[in-house]
Amino acid sequence: MHVVTLIKGDGIGPSIMDEAVKIIDASGVKIQWEEAYAGLAAFEQFGTPLPDETMASIDKTRLVFKGPLTTVVGASGFRSINVALRQKYELYANVRPAKNWPGVKTRYDNVDIVIVRENTEGLYAGLEHYLTPKKDIAESLAVVTRTGSQRVIDYAFKYAQDNHRKKVTVCHKANILKFTQGLFLDVARETAARYPDIQFDEKIIDAACMHMVMDPSQFDVIVCTNMFGDILSDLTAGLVGGLGLIPGANIGNDAALFEAVHGSAPDITGKNLANPTAVIMAGVMMLDHIGEHEAAAKIKAAVEKVVNEGKFVTPDLNPQSKCGTIEMGNAIVEAMK
Ligand code: NAD
Repeated sequence: MHVVTLIKGDGIGPSIMDEAVKIIDASGVKIQWEEAYAGLAAFEQFGTPLPDETMASIDKTRLVFKGPLTTVVGASGFRSINVALRQKYELYANVRPAKNWPGVKTRYDNVDIVIVRENTEGLYAGLEHYLTPKKDIAESLAVVTRTGSQRVIDYAFKYAQDNHRKKVTVCHKANILKFTQGLFLDVARETAARYPDIQFDEKIIDAACMHMVMDPSQFDVIVCTNMFGDILSDLTAGLVGGLGLIPGANIGNDAALFEAVHGSAPDITGKNLANPTAVIMAGVMMLDHIGEHEAAAKIKAAVEKVVNEGKFVTPDLNPQSKCGTIEMGNAIVEAMK
């Protein structure tokens, strides 16, 4: 029996997480879900976006399955709980795979990219403040360390090796940000020399974006600092059919958190329109992570069947579809039988 901290999250979170939990349970794997709260829902209920009970649960389970959390935009809101959790549990590698689904029509049919994003430092280190009482000058500090860079770049190369990938591309901006990005690039170059069986490439981030929309097939595994990885992974999501399809794993040495790449989607909340695929596939990544490969494969095959048939899918995948989140979840459970 595995014990998992379950945070359903905000907005569309509870609806898609309910489907994901239903499907994982139906696969036969034995999981004891320990429900905890975070984000806006927790703030409204407990007066804090990250209650002590939630931390106590994660301290114990070291394994989290999480829905999206709303972070209020601008300086008046609380700090991102996603960022806080990634930093607190040193979940340094954020793995975001984007691959074409044969049944989902997109501009390209040759996309198979895994982004490995540094997840604890860079511009998301949280070192931001106003420099004047009038609040007319603001400053943000990017922190890049050799240790932080080394562990995520090593993870990317090991991931490439373990998953029979051919190439790792580091995307950077070391031409302008010579120290922070320069350090990350130096570590990538040094690390690449230790993995002679993996091809190594380096691209300046702006050019990488252009290359990616012109010919995504040239990318395989990408490693980059925090904010670039955040932005690039939404780009890769767009290449394969949208945010509803992309899962993410946040991996540390002694804790891991699985979630979708997308956010709480306030524009479609409460409408039974949210695609549950991304969180279900995050669940598949979690099951593989804890060694439950059989259940993971069973769920993956069922999701692929339903998505590729395109019948019982949410309207983001098939605009003609009258099917919602719950109906899609039910179809996936049926496909597992
Ligand atoms: P978003 O990812 O929530 O939505 C962007 C667009 O994609 C919207 O049009 C939305 O309807 C669509 N979309 C997202 N998920 C979908 C799904 N499962 N099915 C169908 N369509 C889907 O991004 P946003 O609107 O910029 O952010 C909303 C909130 O989510 C913000 O507070 C943001 O901070 C937060 N957020 C949280 C996480 C996280 O918890 N990991 C990640 C990103 C954003």
